[in-house]
Amino acid sequence: MNVLKFGGTSVTKAENIALVKEIVSNNKADKTIVVVSAFGGVTDSLLKIASLAAIQEQTYKSVLKEIEDRHLDTVKKLISVNSQSNVLSKVKSELNTLETLLDGAFMIGEITPQLSDKIVSYGEILSSYIISAYFEEQQMNAVHLNSRELIKTNDVNGKAVVDFELTNANCKKSIVETVHRVVVIAGFIASSENGKPTTLGRGGSDYTAAILASAIDAEVLEIWTDVSGMYTANPKLVKQAKSIPHLSYEEAMELSHFGAKVLYPPTIQPVLSKGIPIAIKNTFRPDDAGTVITKNKNEKGKTVRGISHVENIALLSLEGPGMVGIPGISKRFFEVLSQSKISVVLITQASSEHSICVGVSSNDVTQAVEVVNAAFEYEIERKKIKPVIAEKDLAIIALVGDNMKSHQGLSGKMFSTLGKNNVNIRVIAQGASERNISAIIKDDDVKKALNSLHEAFFEENTKQLNLFVMGVGNVGSKLIDQIFLQTNYLKNNLKLNIRVIGISNSRTMVFDENGISLKEWETLLIAGQKANRTEFFDTIKQLNYRNSIFVDNTASEAVAATYSSYLKNSISVVTCNKIACSSKYADYKELKRLAQEYNAPFLFETNVGAGLPIIDTLKHLIASGDEILKIQAVLSGSLNFIFNNFNSKTTFHDVVKQAKEEGYTEPDPKIDLSGIDVMRKILILARESGHELEIADIKNEAFLPKESLETTNNEAFFASLKKHEQSFQEIYKKAIDSNSRLKYVAQFENGKASVGLQQISKGHDFYNLEGSDNIVLFYTKRYPNQPMIIKGAGAGADVTASGIFADIIRIGNF
Ligand code: ADP
Ligand code: ASP
Ligand code: MG
Repeated sequence: MNVLKFGGTSVTKAENIALVKEIVSNNKADKTIVVVSAFGGVTDSLLKIASLAAIQEQTYKSVLKEIEDRHLDTVKKLISVNSQSNVLSKVKSELNTLETLLDGAFMIGEITPQLSDKIVSYGEILSSYIISAYFEEQQMNAVHLNSRELIKTNDVNGKAVVDFELTNANCKKSIVETVHRVVVIAGFIASSENGKPTTLGRGGSDYTAAILASAIDAEVLEIWTDVSGMYTANPKLVKQAKSIPHLSYEEAMELSHFGAKVLYPPTIQPVLSKGIPIAIKNTFRPDDAGTVITKNKNEKGKTVRGISHVENIALLSLEGPGMVGIPGISKRFFEVLSQSKISVVLITQASSEHSICVGVSSNDVTQAVEVVNAAFEYEIERKKIKPVIAEKDLAIIALVGDNMKSHQGLSGKMFSTLGKNNVNIRVIAQGASERNISAIIKDDDVKKALNSLHEAFFEENTKQLNLFVMGVGNVGSKLIDQIFLQTNYLKNNLKLNIRVIGISNSRTMVFDENGISLKEWETLLIAGQKANRTEFFDTIKQLNYRNSIFVDNTASEAVAATYSSYLKNSISVVTCNKIACSSKYADYKELKRLAQEYNAPFLFETNVGAGLPIIDTLKHLIASGDEILKIQAVLSGSLNFIFNNFNSKTTFHDVVKQAKEEGYTEPDPKIDLSGIDVMRKILILARESGHELEIADIKNEAFLPKESLETTNNEAFFASLKKHEQSFQEIYKKAIDSNSRLKYVAQFENGKASVGLQQISKGHDFYNLEGSDNIVLFYTKRYPNQPMIIKGAGAGADVTASGIFADIIRIGNF
């Protein structure tokens, strides 16, 4: 004999019930006991209408109508017209009784726990009747047995306690003796010895099935649901979660106790004593292996088998000097909670005995505070104990595995992973069995915590990076193209999983939690919502993903001003925008401090020399104990391009125009030509070398005429270049006359920085600098005479994008 339980998720509609029929027909056992839940969502709806009726809210009628229609429709779809009328009239008659009960509750404006159990039972009464009628019509040799006559409980409503002696005897007799091959039974519902309807608690159909399996000594208990087994974490929250092939009873019990809803926690007890295996299977993918739960322990192999969580937890803390060394306080604390039927999900006590903390369901917290304060009234009045403190909106997250006890370092890894991701831990508890380590965290952090822990314990080699890209002009769009082309390589070779979750330009923004399709991001962005910097940030914050990276590809001051908010929320920042690092020294320093405090890298390699590894090299020199003596550099790819192409046959105006069109200049080319851009770069290098410098400390000998410097828009700027062509030609001629080339040079030495146009003669390291190349000479204590030289393309969208990409990968390896 096998017991197969089909949950609400498996019996949501007629098409699914047809799948259930296939599974039952294919079951090889001599007798198959089918336990069914209410149609998916019906139990919730019944509880809702019961509470609406109890507050005399008429709207219960419309929800009831929906429930009625759904059941009648299902009958019409499943059962042939010839046999329909009998089934329909029986279903209608049950629905009428349900309606009478609700009308009664509405009339008196009240609902007792007993009436609530009676009403909620209709979900399973109807589903089991319809499914068995369908099986009978399909000639499956099926019979419907009444679970209220089989499963006997005490008369506590809501979650009754089973009388196993009576129940086992009833089941043995009725089920074993029946001549039918298929027996359909409603889950969840039962009755007391004197026949009053009771229920086994939410999710209790699993329990019904386990009770029956144990009573009839079934060979296996199969739980059929909408996922392929018990997963390493709730698959609805953790995309990377995997089904666990085998679990011991104890592991499954811990996982379900800490929230793995796929199995109702009491389910294991009845089958455990008989050693009956439980198989968790997927109704929609019956060939998937699923999970098998047996008595065999997993003492070898993987330490952490699964991660589960319970939301809606409140923490009660009882503390005070009067607790130290006084026996019996904890006993009274737990007694009063238990008398009020408040179940305690987690306990910790500080070894100083100064405080006890327990986790309870948020639904129970108001009552818990009341009863505990009342129980300790005497001590509270005398200030020996403080009134109980309740904190809400919390969740428990637990690592579970038989094999955890023999391994050190698991809790260290758990807490450092959570810490790295800025998840604040309120309480830590380790089960005495050492089969679980649990922590209480904020509800809002659950998804991030689950995913970070899952990554740390189950995907040890892969890391998910979640990108939010602002600015998709020349550089930003190239970056997205590069990420698109490189995604698979990074996954396979560096174990980095890159997902772009948000993209914004100045007009629109778009988000996709599963990753925006990088093939069609442009169309998706155009169709996105109106861009808004604050909303962009709020969305990222609210998504609260681990390894989130904000990528700024703009040149905007307003965007740079938002970095601190990102860093404070442990969101890393990668930027090619120089404004933040070249603004006030105090601001630059603060961003670096925030990056450290919140464990969120702030990287800006492309601020100097586009994709060239200049800042990274500088950092390594300093970290390894070197000291910068002098920096000499040509840092403007734009100016280099311009002066390499400018001669007596061209005009300065046309060359600048060309540089702009080819993406070698900032959107506002005056920023390059005035030398401001180079000042910012040398300032950043000086700061990264450890010097406290402001932009005003840098000497700038401008070569642009005053009039050009004072223009306020690109059009006026270009017009002024045209007007002053003669002065540019003169500068050029002077250089040629002295056999030199014009280079815009930045220098830093003895704490002083300067920038300016210089005539560079043949033989100098800078003389042959081509195109838009940059060059940096680092003279250091270790390289005093022959400097360390970094040279290469220092401008252009492609190389800048690749520099940003390199920073993103650096964070991946962080
Ligand atoms: P049923 O109606 O079949 O009883 P439930 O909704 O009670 O189904 O349980 C199945 C659900 O349990 C899954 O859809 C999944 O969202 C949730 N769940 C939570 N944790 C886990 C886990 N660790 N493994 C599998 N499912 C889980
Ligand atoms: N229908 C009940 C509930 O939703 C029992 C179950 O589905 O297991 O809680
Ligand atoms: Mg369930």
